[in-house]
Amino acid sequence: MVGIVLSTLAGPAAGQQRGVDVRSYDVGIVIPDSGSSVTAWAAITFRRVPSSDDTLRLDLVGLSVDSVRESRSGHLLRFAYDGRLLKVLIAGLPDPQDADEEDVVVFYHGLPQDGLLIGSNARGKRSAFADNWPERARYWLPTVDHPSDKAGIQFHVVVPDGWRVVAPGYDEGCRRRRSDARWFCEWLQAAPIPAYTMVIAAGEFTVSKHRPVINGRDTIPIEVWTYPEDSAFADSVPFRRATEIVEVMQRLIAPFPYEKLAHVQSSTKFGGMENSSAIFYAEKPYIERKMGEGVVRHETAHQWFGDAVTERDWPHLWLSEGFATYFDGVIEAALDGDSILAKHMRANAESYFASDVTDRPIVDSGFAADPIKLLNANSYPKGAWVLNMLRGLMGDSAFFRGLRTYYSTYRDSTATSEDFQHVMETAARADFGWFFHQWLYQPGYPQLDVTWQYDSGARRAVVGITQRQKREWGLFRLPVLTLEFRAADGATLRRNVAVTSGSRETSARFDVPFPPAEVRVDPDGKLLLRVTAIGRR
Ligand SMILES: [Zn+2]
Repeated sequence: MVGIVLSTLAGPAAGQQRGVDVRSYDVGIVIPDSGSSVTAWAAITFRRVPSSDDTLRLDLVGLSVDSVRESRSGHLLRFAYDGRLLKVLIAGLPDPQDADEEDVVVFYHGLPQDGLLIGSNARGKRSAFADNWPERARYWLPTVDHPSDKAGIQFHVVVPDGWRVVAPGYDEGCRRRRSDARWFCEWLQAAPIPAYTMVIAAGEFTVSKHRPVINGRDTIPIEVWTYPEDSAFADSVPFRRATEIVEVMQRLIAPFPYEKLAHVQSSTKFGGMENSSAIFYAEKPYIERKMGEGVVRHETAHQWFGDAVTERDWPHLWLSEGFATYFDGVIEAALDGDSILAKHMRANAESYFASDVTDRPIVDSGFAADPIKLLNANSYPKGAWVLNMLRGLMGDSAFFRGLRTYYSTYRDSTATSEDFQHVMETAARADFGWFFHQWLYQPGYPQLDVTWQYDSGARRAVVGITQRQKREWGLFRLPVLTLEFRAADGATLRRNVAVTSGSRETSARFDVPFPPAEVRVDPDGKLLLRVTAIGRR
């Protein structure tokens, strides 16, 4: 996501061994005509893992559980619910030897304290929006509410007359109920997605259809769902190139992973939230006519990285946010010219340098229990820099080949930083242990003092480089650091030096045919570093 409004409502870290693997959720929910209380059921299809005991543990916060049944037989199951964790006794269910998958259905109701926002949107109209990140699905859906357990999701939603509903996956249509004239809408997301993107939006929307993406025999609809007053602005400004953005990602990585892509104006607390195939965007920037394309590029890139390939645990969040931040720039460069990526990377460097997380590493288990704190300059701009520097190290061809392999290997599944490293090392046929160690597990960045002297007789420059960053950050290895010698008359000469992590000091001598008036370090901005001092010795 982008543009964070801080919340402290994140639940405790899940991810504890549950002894089950949820395959799919099938959820029916009634959105009321007034008030915010919902009536719902959720069928959970799961497999036991070998370490399973006889209890199915589901996150569900602050609601009332009416009953739990075995889906096929309808038999009531014993359960215990303390307002945070629903424990269902599944001892009586068919033995996993007999039935590969088991189903239970939870009937529940109540007023969601979070996760599902029912009320007035910024245009004063009643609507309902789910907002699940990071672990807020549990406020309205009984789930294993952790990204490690992705699952399919089907929603059956009953809404007031005149409303429309959008959710992940394939549109199974709406019909008007004869009994009460309310609408009944269904969406099916078959490929597994993280619980934090299992959302619905319901209300009065104008839906505009943009040019679809055609992949062989598959047509991917691209739709913009807005409050009616904001439709013309949305189509012509932030989403003008919604289709082209998807096409760039398809050229670079792989076909779009889902059945459709809906861009939805919403009451999400995030600037944008990458819900799988139904991206939600904050409503105010539409109304203020301030919304730009950057958030669209970022959230669209998440459909591949974050949604289809999901971080297995929160400390690996950069696999989602660092990728989306990087591809925001990569996509814009593909559409508007290569020099734009360098601008993105400079801005990313400045925002990271100015942040309060430079003393922490990107892969930061210290924040695993509070993922909101991982929405920081390590996961976003520094994560983007890790990819940009890896691309520099590998070259474009091997880098994108590696990304495509990483994507296809872990699509509809989860990955860790080690998984990503392994794929990229294989693609490059190189050992990048040092690279991933210094950029993901060490804090900080190199700060360099550079001095030089010139021997006019020998026409030789001697350059000394000292790593001046805090000792706690460690030393950095920069196998290719470019120096540019510039003469007073504007002549330039570029030479590379290898900075090792074995010592704070590196020195090198170069034949330079003119007396340098100036030496520039990393003139093309290829590395995340700061030059703290530079001058003639
Ligand atoms: Zn994001």
